[in-house]
Amino acid sequence: MDCTQFLEELSDYIDGAVPPAVREAIVEHTAFCRKCEVLYNSTRHTLEIVTAHGHEAYEIPKPVSDRLYSRLRARMAKLTTR
Ligand SMILES: [Zn+2]
Repeated sequence: MDCTQFLEELSDYIDGAVPPAVREAIVEHTAFCRKCEVLYNSTRHTLEIVTAHGHEAYEIPKPVSDRLYSRLRARMAKLTTR
């Protein structure tokens, strides 16, 4: 798994909606990729704050999340040096 794949699976992973093999790959990736670990922690933390305020079914509106993800992807692409 690379950072782009990680980003693609991230929201499903947080929802617990990924197959075990993907979950393992994600755990493995965050173990050595500090960048994605931070991203995962901050995303999860943000969602926890939202749900803690009683918005159990809260979902980021699609246009917003699309924008967010494309921005994250662009930033990732810039940061990833291979
Ligand atoms: Zn990564």
